[in-house]
Amino acid sequence: MNDFNPVLQLNIERDLPEASLKLLLQSEKWDSSLTAAADRKRREIYADEVYLRGLIEFSNFCKNNCFYCGIRAGNQNAVRYRLSKEEILDCCVEGYGLGFRTFVLQSGEDPFFTDSLLCEIVSEIRSRFPDCAITLSLGEKPRESYKAYFDAGANRYLLRHETANDAHYRKLHPESMSLTNRKRCLYDLKDIGYQVGSGFMVGSPYQTVDCIIEDLRFLQELKPDMIGIGPYITHKETPFASFQSGSLTLTLRLISVLRLMFPYALIPATTALGTIHPQGRELGLKAGANVVMPNLSPVRVRKLYELYENKICTGEEAAQCRSCLERRVAAAGYRVVTAIGNAKKEHML
Ligand code: SF4
Repeated sequence: MNDFNPVLQLNIERDLPEASLKLLLQSEKWDSSLTAAADRKRREIYADEVYLRGLIEFSNFCKNNCFYCGIRAGNQNAVRYRLSKEEILDCCVEGYGLGFRTFVLQSGEDPFFTDSLLCEIVSEIRSRFPDCAITLSLGEKPRESYKAYFDAGANRYLLRHETANDAHYRKLHPESMSLTNRKRCLYDLKDIGYQVGSGFMVGSPYQTVDCIIEDLRFLQELKPDMIGIGPYITHKETPFASFQSGSLTLTLRLISVLRLMFPYALIPATTALGTIHPQGRELGLKAGANVVMPNLSPVRVRKLYELYENKICTGEEAAQCRSCLERRVAAAGYRVVTAIGNAKKEHML
């Protein structure tokens, strides 16, 4: 057992048996070789390129009550806002000028934005920016709605599964929500033809290492193009106010595991990572991430889209965010590129 090396095996086979995976996730022993192997893998597939996604958080209204979320319907103290169609388009115009070729439209599950209004917004962006990808992150919807947005011109959809363990899902969400429906959404999205992103929080309340292994197994089954993970961060206006935030080390370890399991995936160095550590996003890139998502939302609403507390980058204009991130990416040893940034297709192998 002396020369047991799970990193080597994961690197070659893109998978590990349960027991080895558990050891790898629970020990610091292999961290430096894991990071190095993940970085080699990302350079092999994506060289030093880091893709930009321009994030437009257009509504913080949400009908749901996820127990971990700062903009849950039950948070009476949240100051709510919606951007108009014109304001969303203005964000795209500004972003395009700054070199963004992917716009991510994100909101809570806000019934104000009907399917017809969303389709109107998506079609307008599609016709004005034909060379850009339109990513939606609007939560759980019926299949027909996903299909309508796709037909209007959306190409990608982000919907984290959050946890693939049913009992854990029950602890994080109210009765009205279910893991079955979340999975149905993800498979519908794939089936319709979206490039799909999923993922989970690291260190969420009641999460065990077995839950994380189930998350990885679910991702192996789903084979998403994009995988977003970030540390759980506590928000005081939620039922989980007394829980601790997730750990930087485990999040970085998991980014590297994901890079080796899913070499072709687009993996963001998330804002949540930058929130728990000043160099969090740089460390995320070095651990295998290859995407950053600067904020294009108007500065006046940035602070209000508060899924978790102390979120960074809420005071800078879009242009400042972009150049700050470009410098950070360069300092970490990578290069921001202006490209649509699709996943390399061999990930289905
Ligand atoms: S996590 Fe999403 S669906 Fe849940 S309350 Fe927050 S914004 Fe709404």
